[in-house]
Amino acid sequence: MAADPSEQSLPNIGRGGDVPLSFSIEARLPGVDGRAGTLALPHGTVETPAFMVVGTQATIKSLTPAEVRGLGTQMILGNAYHLYLRPGAAIVEEFGGLHNFMSWDGPILTDSGGFQVFSLGFALEHGVGKIAKIFPGEGTQAPKRAQRPKLTRIDDEGVTFTSHLDGSTHRFTPEISIGIQQQLGADVIVAFDECTSPLHDHAYTARALDRTHRWADRCLTAWTRRDDQALFGIVQGGAYQDLRLRSAEFFAARSFPGYCIGGSLGKDKADMRAILDWTLPILPDERPRHLLGIGEPEDLFAAIERGIDLFDCVAPTRLARHGALYTATGRLQIKGARYTRDQGPIEQGCECYTCQRFSRGYLRHLFHAGETLALRLASLHNLHFIVNLVRDIRVSILDGTFATFRDTFLARYLAGQGPGQGGSISG
Ligand SMILES: [Zn+2]
Repeated sequence: MAADPSEQSLPNIGRGGDVPLSFSIEARLPGVDGRAGTLALPHGTVETPAFMVVGTQATIKSLTPAEVRGLGTQMILGNAYHLYLRPGAAIVEEFGGLHNFMSWDGPILTDSGGFQVFSLGFALEHGVGKIAKIFPGEGTQAPKRAQRPKLTRIDDEGVTFTSHLDGSTHRFTPEISIGIQQQLGADVIVAFDECTSPLHDHAYTARALDRTHRWADRCLTAWTRRDDQALFGIVQGGAYQDLRLRSAEFFAARSFPGYCIGGSLGKDKADMRAILDWTLPILPDERPRHLLGIGEPEDLFAAIERGIDLFDCVAPTRLARHGALYTATGRLQIKGARYTRDQGPIEQGCECYTCQRFSRGYLRHLFHAGETLALRLASLHNLHFIVNLVRDIRVSILDGTFATFRDTFLARYLAGQGPGQGGSISG
């Protein structure tokens, strides 16, 4: 009996069928690829689309796990790079893994460390972020590039990098990254990749992509020690259409139970949308997709419409620590003098702990007094806002009101967004 030629052309490399993950799609948006689903993982079920809260150092900055859970969070993200450097993956393993260590009993995803090796190396050398955002005070030309130390060295086997903590030298390979993530014990782990910069040209990005693909196959081979972790592939290729297509086709042909969309997402939001339009239709529809490091409201709608199921972003907590608070009419800066006598909540009708109990005037006072409660209350509100915005988008997909909800929400949100307030903080 002749084999199905479509199966012959897809070398479905790696473990299939026995991964601890199941994903079911409950509803689809008409005419586009957006969907609402349920993702079942060893530590619980995630209703998608969902926003993961970022817990870089095995903590959601300033909040307890009960508070994080209480604001509606279903899943969190930990960083392999940071936990490898401190306290060390073997230490976390001694405590029974990341769930026990940080007392979070829900699903966790760990990233591979590739993005941190990139962001703390190349980005510091060149002053660029995930979407070509230039660090404050630096121009588009790499400043004093020759005078800066080379922080990362990439070869075909792996990456040698300098610790941002103490300057010591370390090396990640695909096998080492998978080993670290197996020690940490998250529900979802991610293949180790080379994360290119928006400043890299086509030729370099193509070479890096080929390396990322060879590393992805090595990660599949290394992914054997535990049967309670799902390994996600990570689609790269920068802002180049041919490379994104090549990467999506590479990953679609392999048995990763889910995918991340990673790397440089171009110079602006239009580039990000184009990258999703090229990539997502090629990836297997029945597997979940996670867009790494994106979390601005307008980006969430655009990505969900195109078929993204999972998000993570440091923006809600990072903005909160700087006093920038989300509201339905755009972000406000709570440190402003106009809030000194304001006895209303950050947002009328918000059900978060902060808005139920505290005034804008009190929060402004806490920020100016340098009190840590300011950071906690602001983080609670911002995370509540974003986690529940994504939940509301999910509900709108299920009840068929997505387009109306999107148009109404974005009209108010973007109209209230003052100049200079709309930029992305990604990573
Ligand atoms: Zn609130």
